[in-house]
Amino acid sequence: MRVLTLLRFTPDRSGAPEVPPPWKPFSREVPEELLTCPGEPRDREEEERVAREEPLHEFFSVHPEASEFIVEHGRGFLKPTFSKLAGAIHQIRQATRSRPRPGRATYSPEELTELLRKEAVRIGLSRIGIAPNDPKYTFPESDAEQLPNVVVCLVEQDWELTQMIPSDEAEMAAMYGYAEGMTRTAALTEFLKRLGFDAAPQGFPGDAIAIHYGVAAGLGQLGINGQMLTPEAGSRCRILMLTTDAPLVHDQPVDYGLHKICDECKACVRNCPVGAIPQTRKPYRGVMKSKLNTARCLPVVAQASGCAVCMKVCPVQRYGLDAILEHREKTGEILGVGTDELEGYDWPLDGRHYGPGQTPKVGDEVLKNQDLVFDYSRREPPPGVEPIRFVG
Ligand code: SF4
Ligand code: SF4
Repeated sequence: MRVLTLLRFTPDRSGAPEVPPPWKPFSREVPEELLTCPGEPRDREEEERVAREEPLHEFFSVHPEASEFIVEHGRGFLKPTFSKLAGAIHQIRQATRSRPRPGRATYSPEELTELLRKEAVRIGLSRIGIAPNDPKYTFPESDAEQLPNVVVCLVEQDWELTQMIPSDEAEMAAMYGYAEGMTRTAALTEFLKRLGFDAAPQGFPGDAIAIHYGVAAGLGQLGINGQMLTPEAGSRCRILMLTTDAPLVHDQPVDYGLHKICDECKACVRNCPVGAIPQTRKPYRGVMKSKLNTARCLPVVAQASGCAVCMKVCPVQRYGLDAILEHREKTGEILGVGTDELEGYDWPLDGRHYGPGQTPKVGDEVLKNQDLVFDYSRREPPPGVEPIRFVG
């Protein structure tokens, strides 16, 4: 953290790309045969039981040894983006410390929500959504204040760089996305404080399961690749959050038809280099979802420039849902599936190109790298481990 504090004084020469303009609302009608349920199918009782018996924890607090290995292998994309990330973390901290103006604005929840959405557009967030705070999905080690409403803030990362997955350049796009997301979330926090409400930006890499809130706020649905797929963006986006006591109108989960699109697609399942993505969804912690095999995925993510092949080959993330529905209506097929444009990628560990459905051979030197000390069965932070503090 001390390094980050010093780095915020370093001029940003990273050449980060411009953030694309805010998204236009998705308005296309989803065909009835694609509809399943708004958000994700869930068993509320089971969700409550698992959260009570096995609360969620922040990944790097549970696996501090793995984090050292990941940072060491991520130097190629972390070093060039460090000063920008440090500056953004500084802004998050400043927004945390500033005090709400005395005297609260007297808008109705509807008026206030409208005002907040307009400000989010002005600030340049791709889209925001509002959901109730839910302790089941917030990490107990979080140092960010937890207020009753969550504002989920999305920032689209650069499309061109994203198509270079898997590479350090593409991972830099993700880091720039986080930095822009933090800066803009800090600005939205300050806006609420100027109106007299309390607000608390959440930290980086996160104080909660952000995609839970994204789905709850109607911003997207979970893809089989484990990501939140949003309909508007032909790209990958970063999810940041703030909590607030401002009385806001909650958004609701939406059915964009993405579960059935995934069932017809499965490009991520076919192209994952280590077969870490299951074919079908299963109940996990009370939610019907695709649970990736972390033991196979994480070593590859750590050593192959963040991997993320499952995002590169995702037609929703590349083309956006509008284009997919249009193509499906005309041809009955999912746009791009089976083409090299969508499913092809260069593998950083051997420099070779792999086409649709071809996967590199990933050996034990990667999957069982002795330096990656990682106890997959661990569910809680080991004794004596200090969680990473980004906010306080
Ligand atoms: S990040 Fe790579 S290894 Fe992990 S699930 Fe995606 S494609 Fe597979
Ligand atoms: S690649 Fe296809 S199956 Fe995988 S998440 Fe994207 S749309 Fe769903």
